[in-house]
Amino acid sequence: MSRRSQSKRKSTTSANTAQNKLPIVQQQTASTPTTTPSSESSQKFTAQSSKRSSQRKRYTDTEAWVDRNLSELIDIFNLSSLDLNEEEAKTIVTKIVDMLRGEAATIDKDTIRRRFLRNIQQVNQVIAQSIVELRDELTLNQLEFVVNNIGEAVLGYAPKLYREVVKHSRQDLLETLRTLWRAYWVQRKYQVLPVECPRCGFNSLMPDLSCLICGASVTEEELKKYVGFEKLLQELVNQYSVEDVKKAIMYGYVYLSSLGLKPPTHERDKLDVEILLNSREKEYLKSLLASKGV
Ligand SMILES: [Zn+2]
Repeated sequence: MSRRSQSKRKSTTSANTAQNKLPIVQQQTASTPTTTPSSESSQKFTAQSSKRSSQRKRYTDTEAWVDRNLSELIDIFNLSSLDLNEEEAKTIVTKIVDMLRGEAATIDKDTIRRRFLRNIQQVNQVIAQSIVELRDELTLNQLEFVVNNIGEAVLGYAPKLYREVVKHSRQDLLETLRTLWRAYWVQRKYQVLPVECPRCGFNSLMPDLSCLICGASVTEEELKKYVGFEKLLQELVNQYSVEDVKKAIMYGYVYLSSLGLKPPTHERDKLDVEILLNSREKEYLKSLLASKGV
């Protein structure tokens, strides 16, 4: 890529310094129909531009420019404290510069710095996402930065970040991660949260009792214990009609969601977990109804 822009630059300069060569260039274009699109466009460009405008419009290659300014750009984007090797830093810096330069033909540091500061939250999110993608394991510095800046991309990277947070035993980051997951789940995925997983504590348990975050497969017994099933049965009796509760006893199951229990006579949501009632629980429901005077 950088080689191509260098050759483009060379041909531009030589043609501009010798205006009388222009007809020859045009003639060459006409007599060689197999010319590649890039050299053809550079010749056209040469023929039409004055020396000044050709300098202004010359396209700066991002990678080559980043190579020349890498250490300064690492400072501008605050990457020096993120334990990145040169290769990783370069990959991330190139991505950011490409994003910030937009359609501009040339790049200058002040503009990049200004745009970075104006879009710092969005850029930091790109940095966070790139770090998770580039590395198998994260250092504590990286993990702190990523959890605090990953934003809605948490929906894709939470399982990996969960593993890293557990490895570093950072309870505070774990709580931040769970909060982010819940917020973006509701905002981007679905209006109801999944049931909380007894193993990792994220709202990420699917109706088949497998967890999206920690990958565990839990049993109904484990889940009942974790959610305080007896208490939820009391709430069920308080919230729903006697008829509904009687149907739950008769059918032998209820639906569990992050909002509590629902009788089987109510519509099942796609995230609801079907929970079977054992005989002890059925007796308990009957006793609750009896205490209500039914
Ligand atoms: Zn889990």
